Amino acid sequence: MSEYSGKRVVGGFDASKQVVVFAGPCAIESEEQFEQVCACVASLGLHWVRGGAFKPRTNPHSFQGLGLRGLQIMNRVANKHRLLTLSEVIDAEHIDVVDEYSDGLQIGARNMTNYSLLKTIGEKTAQTKKLVFFKRGMAATVSEWLSAAEYITSSGNDNVVLCERGLRTFETATRYTLDISAVPVVQKQSVLPICVDVSHPAGQADLVPALACAALASGADAIMIEVHPHPQTALSDGPQQLNLEQFASLIGRLRTLAAAMGKEIV
Ligand code: PEP
Ligand code: MN
Repeated sequence: MSEYSGKRVVGGFDASKQVVVFAGPCAIESEEQFEQVCACVASLGLHWVRGGAFKPRTNPHSFQGLGLRGLQIMNRVANKHRLLTLSEVIDAEHIDVVDEYSDGLQIGARNMTNYSLLKTIGEKTAQTKKLVFFKRGMAATVSEWLSAAEYITSSGNDNVVLCERGLRTFETATRYTLDISAVPVVQKQSVLPICVDVSHPAGQADLVPALACAALASGADAIMIEVHPHPQTALSDGPQQLNLEQFASLIGRLRTLAAAMGKEIV
C-alpha cells in the first residue's frame, strides 16, 4: 500500500482541502513564452505548470511541439520559479525523457486505450511514484476509463490523477461536451482523484471561466486551464487559451468560490 491509497492526493496536495490548478500553455513554444507563463502562475501562488513538448496533433502538418528542447525549457524556467511541471507522453520511446525532465507525466485522451503505453509508464514510475495524469478518451465510458487506469496502478504506481476533458457528441457549439457528472461518478466509484480540464471542452476562451467555476463547484479535486501570453499567436489551441490577465482574474474568482467551500486554490 502506498501513501496514495485511500485518500485523494493531487501532486502532493490534500484534495480534501486544496484544489490544484494545472495551468500553462498548450505547447511550450519558446523560453520567453514559458517564462511569462511561469512568472504569472508563480505570482498567483500556484504550484504546478503544464506544457506540451510532444503534441498529439490531429493534423500531421500542425506544430508538433519542441520535443526535448521544449522539456529543457520547461525544466529550466519552472525550476527558476519553483514550480512543478506536467508534460505529455505520446509515445513509449519518450517516457524516459519526459520522466527525466518533468514532475508529472500526462497521458492524453488519444492514448487512453494504449494499454501497453499505460503499463510501461506504470512500471517505469513504480519506484518513484511520480504523478501520472490520465485523461479520459473522448468516446470512453467512465467504466472503460477506470479499467484503463488500472493498467497504470496495477503496474506499480497508484499516484494517478484522472482527468475529464470532454466527450465527442452531436453538439458543435463547444469543442467537446464536458461531462461534469463524471466528477461525482468517479468520486463514488474510485479512490483516485479527479481533475477537470476546462479548456479543451470549451474550445473558446470566453467559455472557460464558467466551466472552471462549474468544475470547482462540482467538487473536482483539481482543474486544468490552458494559458498563454498571446493566445492569438499560439502555435496550438489558440482560441481556447486564456491570456495572463484573464487567467489571473479567473483565479481570483475561483479563490472566492473555493473559500465558500472551505477549500484553497493551490
Ligand atoms: C492537452 O492537454 O494539451 C491535450 C492534447 O489534451 P487531450 O489529450 O485532452 O486532447
Ligand atoms: Mn491543448
